[in-house]
Amino acid sequence: DYGGGATGTIAAIVTSLGGGPAAVGIVRLSGPDAVAVAGRVFRPARKAPAQAPWRPRSHFVEYGLALNADGSVIDEVLVVPMLAPRSYTREDVVELQCHGNDLCLRRVLRACLEAGARLADPGEFTLRAFLNGRLDLAQAENVSKLISAKSAAAADSALAGIQGGFSTLVKSLRSRCIELLTEIEARLDFEDEMPPLNPVLLIRKISSMRQEVQDALDTSNYDKLLQSGLQIAIIGRPNVGKSSLLNAWSKSERAIVTEIAGTTRDVVEANVSIHGIPVTLLDTAGIRETDDVVEKIGVKRSEAAALGADMIIMTISAVDGWTDDDTKLIEHVLINKVCSNSSGPSVPMVLVINKVDCAPFVSGEQFEKFSGLFRKHIQTCAVTGKGISELEGAVIEVRGIEHVPCGGRRWTVNQVIQCVFNTSNALPNCSALSTVAQMNVAYERSLTAFSLCHIMQRQFEQLLRTKEAFTRLESSISDQLPMDFWTIDLREAALALATISGEDISEEVLSSIFSKFCIGK
Ligand code: GDP
Ligand code: ZN
Repeated sequence: DYGGGATGTIAAIVTSLGGGPAAVGIVRLSGPDAVAVAGRVFRPARKAPAQAPWRPRSHFVEYGLALNADGSVIDEVLVVPMLAPRSYTREDVVELQCHGNDLCLRRVLRACLEAGARLADPGEFTLRAFLNGRLDLAQAENVSKLISAKSAAAADSALAGIQGGFSTLVKSLRSRCIELLTEIEARLDFEDEMPPLNPVLLIRKISSMRQEVQDALDTSNYDKLLQSGLQIAIIGRPNVGKSSLLNAWSKSERAIVTEIAGTTRDVVEANVSIHGIPVTLLDTAGIRETDDVVEKIGVKRSEAAALGADMIIMTISAVDGWTDDDTKLIEHVLINKVCSNSSGPSVPMVLVINKVDCAPFVSGEQFEKFSGLFRKHIQTCAVTGKGISELEGAVIEVRGIEHVPCGGRRWTVNQVIQCVFNTSNALPNCSALSTVAQMNVAYERSLTAFSLCHIMQRQFEQLLRTKEAFTRLESSISDQLPMDFWTIDLREAALALATISGEDISEEVLSSIFSKFCIGK
């Protein structure tokens, strides 16, 4: 039970608000009184016996008017009733398709609230879908991922998650755990009557399960990249070809390229996509001392960009070789931005030696001192685009994008912390409320919803817990520890997997054992 938080009939604007007028917007009702509430707001155009309550036919669209309590018309609407259990929440759902103007939507929502619904908590429709068994937790989480996906690859991955790819794996792993538990427990109880377990076979089974968990864990790196993308700052002293590099890479003309040093006075962004990962390239103004006020602003911004980037591409020119200014710049970056530790800079850096069409690169003593800071050295000619694909290859290698789940597996495991039940309709809808009191209530509800988000963030954590349990189990078996120890780790794994899907476990283990081995003893 979810503390009564998910009861009653809820209403919310489920299409986006504040994004300019749209043709259609939707107010959704869900709950036991959804039809009654809609019946108070909606007057069908079709002739109906006077005073009779509105009796919708499930999944049939009806046209009519939306009315205030005083009978005044607030919009023309299409109503779509989806009666339980054939709805997203498995409750009675009624959607009112209004005109897409925020005003219309807010008036219709307010009419629904006045007619007895309460404002939905953030993500409460999905919460109800989960509580009513329509989605498991991992699927629900992917609903929110899909809504916020910023690239086609991210959307594909979320969709695969909703369709249950990951959930199926979790379910299958869990049922295999329970099966093994059942076999082991049976031997603990009825040792003399059962053939002994083959430890070699058992270990083989468990290590293959552990590998499946590991494969799932491997998707999380990709997930993080899909969700937040990569920010790459291109730094270098003026005129080495940063803007040209960005242009060549993004095959656009977004950055201004000139021959006068110090032209790029602000951070210029360009978006490229590597293996479906959205990558933002930041062309920074040369980080250097300057008296020009405008240029100073640019320099500050480029420093900030380099600070926030996931990766830095330092560009030098083959014509000049490694110069004192390059040394100054890299020292500046190292001191201020990229606190290095024994294993090198904390933000990975790649060196681009540009303009190799003009001169061969001659490395000097100064260069030797710093070259080790860079994970890769790439030679480019930004004018012709030579070396760009090698540069992409370097990004893929350095950021581990090559480990993306290719082929069959398209879903990904959440690693980034994400507020699952805090999606589309949290704050914007609050402004649709008429009173401060209503807004406070909505705010408090969004806080309650947060506790559930917290469970969801542990997808990754729970998989790790599962893997560790399998690892321990393998050594318990090979070290010939008593079987009781095995069951502890198996239970742990099953519990962790159940946490991911949001199911409970202990009862189920017991009843599974009971039903399979109720052999009259
Ligand atoms: P930035 O100040 O670092 O952004 O440098 P720009 O991209 O503005 O380039 C400065 C000048 O170098 C321009 O005239 C470019 O056409 C030229 N340039 C950039 N890359 C190359 C290159 O690989 N080869 C040659 N020959 N010229 C280049
Ligand atoms: Zn530039």
